[in-house]
Amino acid sequence: MGTVASKSGEICGRCLQPVAHADAKCRNCGMPRMRTRRLTIWIAVTGLLALLFVIVIMVKSVWDADIESAPPDGGGDNAAPSSSRGPDNPPPLNK
Ligand SMILES: [Zn+2]
Repeated sequence: MGTVASKSGEICGRCLQPVAHADAKCRNCGMPRMRTRRLTIWIAVTGLLALLFVIVIMVKSVWDADIESAPPDGGGDNAAPSSSRGPDNPPPLNK
């Protein structure tokens, strides 16, 4: 995912010099390479967790809407969620 294709593909986060894959730290400024790698892993894990969270919420809302919008006199095509159907009975304003 690096923009600059070097020999190792990793770039120092501090001095932006290419870091060899065998080096534990940057040869130019001495910044440890593990840090950026761990940060990348953390970002990936966080992104995956967020994606999982969104998927769980979507599945749960679809599941709930499917249960709520199930009509008693069973129709075939009810793809609309219950929130966009609008109020079935108007509020008693003229009483
Ligand atoms: Zn460096």
